[in-house]
Amino acid sequence: MGAIMRPVERGDAPQVFTSYRDAYPYLVERMGDYCSYCERQIETHLAVEHVQAKSPVPALENEWSNFLLGCVNCNSSKGDTPIALVDYLWPDSENTLSAFSYSMGGLVDPQIGLNPLLSAKALATIKLVGLDKYPGNPGREPTAADLRWQRRREAWQQAEYCRRLVEENDCEQVRSLVVQVAKGRGMYSIFWNVFKDDPDIKKRLREAFSGTSPACFDADEGLLPRPGGQI
Ligand SMILES: [Zn+2]
Repeated sequence: MGAIMRPVERGDAPQVFTSYRDAYPYLVERMGDYCSYCERQIETHLAVEHVQAKSPVPALENEWSNFLLGCVNCNSSKGDTPIALVDYLWPDSENTLSAFSYSMGGLVDPQIGLNPLLSAKALATIKLVGLDKYPGNPGREPTAADLRWQRRREAWQQAEYCRRLVEENDCEQVRSLVVQVAKGRGMYSIFWNVFKDDPDIKKRLREAFSGTSPACFDADEGLLPRPGGQI
């Protein structure tokens, strides 16, 4: 059920960078202070993430188009693995909301119904950043410092609570508060899923989370294939 990984646009390079660290405030301004993979809001230790890692591809170390934002857990799972971009589905070039699914307990899987090639790429992406790490998953047990699975579960419960609030008292103030709650914790995609039948909340979420790719949504906030992407 449901989709994950907010599709983002970082926009044009604001300048030429001689140190990738200088790109951090621009990335946060454009896309919010959220991990581009697990989507958590991160106060500190959110880092400029190199899609293609620095050590295997030093030429892209200071290249704006190679930057996303990554938390410590996603970053360390991904490590310095040399990668071919085409083998994965990236939130800055695909409509990643269509590629992955959450289950209620916070487990992440390729979206059901993808063709085998896209499904394999979705799975490769999940494994690359370690979104399949949760207690009881053989060989993919999270470290004690990796609580992404737990945060997903909590966010889902919180979003469900928000949905009940809207059902009980559907007014501007409650709708605005739901979006503020979502912004405060990140996890755009979980809120998007829990409110999947509520285009107004989905629109508010899209507008509140800066950098969410508008090209990935139709006028009713349904999902569209990303222009130039595979999905
Ligand atoms: Zn992360």
